[in-house]
Amino acid sequence: MIINAAECEPILSHNIERIRQKPEQLLRGLRIAMDVVHATKGVIAIKEKHTEAVKALREANKDPDISLTLLEDMYPMGEERAIIREVLGKLLKVTDLPLAADAIVTNAETACRIQEAVDEHKPFIDKDMTVAGKIAGNEQDKLIQVFLDVPLGTKVSAMFEKAGGLGDSYGELIMGGPFTGKRTSPDAPVIKTTGGLIATECFPKGPEKIGVLVCACSACQERMEQIAASLGSEVVGVEKCKQAKEVKGSLKCENPGRCPGQVQKVMALKKAGAQAVLIGNCTDCSNTVMSCAPQLGLPVYHSTDAALRAVNFHLIRKIKNR
Ligand code: SF4
Repeated sequence: MIINAAECEPILSHNIERIRQKPEQLLRGLRIAMDVVHATKGVIAIKEKHTEAVKALREANKDPDISLTLLEDMYPMGEERAIIREVLGKLLKVTDLPLAADAIVTNAETACRIQEAVDEHKPFIDKDMTVAGKIAGNEQDKLIQVFLDVPLGTKVSAMFEKAGGLGDSYGELIMGGPFTGKRTSPDAPVIKTTGGLIATECFPKGPEKIGVLVCACSACQERMEQIAASLGSEVVGVEKCKQAKEVKGSLKCENPGRCPGQVQKVMALKKAGAQAVLIGNCTDCSNTVMSCAPQLGLPVYHSTDAALRAVNFHLIRKIKNR
């Protein structure tokens, strides 16, 4: 039984905050889940950089069958098969479920809600979330805020009010994280999958013609085209990362976060007439794109830019030398 505590998306921090505050709740939820499925081992997969949460879990854990696996800080470390690869050393096929590795993966918050359901008889009526971005006043310490136990059905606008109010201008409201979130509206309700609400920076004026490179673990083609439209750019070419394989109508990555090379894809977009590329790629592949696109005269935009700019984070670009 593996707990996905990667909190993979940048900006989102509510999972780690709950673990930091209540490590025993996650450990208890995991033990209940292990007992239900007769799992002999429990593993909490968490990024090494979350030192306080890691320390809290280590100090609270008295169960010899439960251990921690520390993860590298890269996107998409929280992808289910990436977690299994890191914990068990097995790379599953895109069509495989975790059971193919004799494993079950569940999220950290789900395990905590299992503890509440079993021990406190509390139904699943609340959700933890991160509210971030263009908050009125723009004070640095308010740009990312965590709210625990928000009742499902709460309006998006009410959450931004709680965070201090929406800033005067913003690009869009995202429900979810910068990579996989979707555009939302102030009247939309918080639902069981709402992990983040982000008011992004205003979009800059993009080039006239742009090429789109789609990642399986990030914004889908439709969302990428929506972002291109917000940049005021016409999409003249769409390429998919060669590790992105279609499974039952959606894309799955063959080896999440391990770049297969992107030069051919970038060249194809240039040939299609792109004056710049809009990418949604993982950190490793974004690094590769940055090793070739600028040399081909193509500026690079990333689907997460507007969200990351809103909280003054580094953009997803060149992470390390190749
Ligand atoms: S290898 Fe390709 S499909 Fe996989 S995570 Fe990276 S960009 Fe996405």
